[in-house]
Amino acid sequence: MTRHLISIEDLERDDIERILERAEAFSEVTDRHIKKVPALRGRTVLNLFYEASTRTRSSFELAAKRLSADVVNFAASGSSVEKGESLKDTVLTLAAHSPDAVVVRTPWAGAATMVTNWTDAAVVNAGDGKHEHPTQALLDVFTLKQKLGGLDGRSIWIVGDVAHSRVARSNILAFQKMGAKVTVCGPPTLIPRGIEALGCEVQYDLTRLRDADVVYALRMQNERMHDAYVPSLREYAARYQINGRRLGPRQVLMHPGPVNRGVELSGEVVDSPQAVITMQVKAGVVVRMAVLYELLSGAPADDRVTSPEEPQLA
Ligand code: ASP
Repeated sequence: MTRHLISIEDLERDDIERILERAEAFSEVTDRHIKKVPALRGRTVLNLFYEASTRTRSSFELAAKRLSADVVNFAASGSSVEKGESLKDTVLTLAAHSPDAVVVRTPWAGAATMVTNWTDAAVVNAGDGKHEHPTQALLDVFTLKQKLGGLDGRSIWIVGDVAHSRVARSNILAFQKMGAKVTVCGPPTLIPRGIEALGCEVQYDLTRLRDADVVYALRMQNERMHDAYVPSLREYAARYQINGRRLGPRQVLMHPGPVNRGVELSGEVVDSPQAVITMQVKAGVVVRMAVLYELLSGAPADDRVTSPEEPQLA
């Protein structure tokens, strides 16, 4: 039975732990002189990217190659591709090459789920609009386990444009599953109403930021904003930027990238030893190796990572 990774919602803590243990084992491979194992030899991974990406695309490609899979990279220019039919036609066309996994990023919430209907391949959601980015959350948990030993009882503040961030949603779910207490913080216009239903706390200013063990800053997702949500980036930075004055000396600083220096983070904190941003990028390769391995190495159907839900476009 085809298996997919669409959402953190479909993963239990045990699933996350198993994937991360495997990622840990793959770390040994990426530290070797020859960074390759034959685990997925003869398998084909199709990377289908309808949206800009630096870290995610390169790390999925490297992950597949380090497992000896064949990789096809497809980049669609967002402006020339319509929603719906043309995504479907593209997937149907490329599915004719019989990929074993399709890694898909689009600006549309629900699109990764739709792709599961058009191919027999395992589908990995590499970001669907503002919905989810599950492998980002997994690599962030991996990084925090390396840094802190575990997430149980830790306090994690996610600061910034929560409303338009797929990373925020996936990370709130994953951090909580791993035992952390999550607080989201930002201007009221950038905090979705009712987000407490996910189990997190909400703060609208940084007064209690020092309570956090981990500060996770988000980029302003301008590409998904159709109105002005803050008076100006300058004003946003004045109230919410994580800088040397606001960040405590023992706090861990994370960011999914790309960073807008001088907006959500000051340059000094990006370059400080508290920032684990490049550790996150490094974790991306081994965690994605573990995800591809989990989906393609023929685990029994009961070990399914997730089941596709009804498609919803937003
Ligand atoms: N790279 C992350 C994403 O694709 C975060 C960001 O773009 O700000 O969602």
